[in-house]
Amino acid sequence: MKTKHSNPAQPLRGALTQTQRDALTQKQQNALTQTQRSALEARYRKAAREYITARVAYYEPIIGVTHTRLSIRDQKTRWGSCSSRGGLNFNWRLMLAPPRVLDYVVVHELCHRKEMNHSKAFWHAVETVLPDYRELRKWLRENGNTLVL
Ligand SMILES: [Zn+2]
Repeated sequence: MKTKHSNPAQPLRGALTQTQRDALTQKQQNALTQTQRSALEARYRKAAREYITARVAYYEPIIGVTHTRLSIRDQKTRWGSCSSRGGLNFNWRLMLAPPRVLDYVVVHELCHRKEMNHSKAFWHAVETVLPDYRELRKWLRENGNTLVL
């Protein structure tokens, strides 16, 4: 015969409270998400190296420049950069952007191989290759913060 207990259940000594269990579950979920995020980022970085290298190779003869080295980085505030020695850096998060926007950053950095500034001549060089660069630049300014995993 079953006995009925109407007393509210007290947590057993040593057992986790519901709050503690929830907190643990949340922690495990976050840990898993972080693991997945790292794995995804590694894949994006690899893809970025291949894809951006190809886009650079495509635009270099069009612009009439070359580069010395290409790095894929994780920068919070920069999409790309170009050193005076011809080293190019690109943010892997560009892989989350529309392809035309990624192309804009590639063209922007390659045009710095001609003009190491943001002079009128520089923007003219960009516009020659990408006549709609203003819209692409605007998109990046307005949506860049959404390019996260
Ligand atoms: Zn620039």
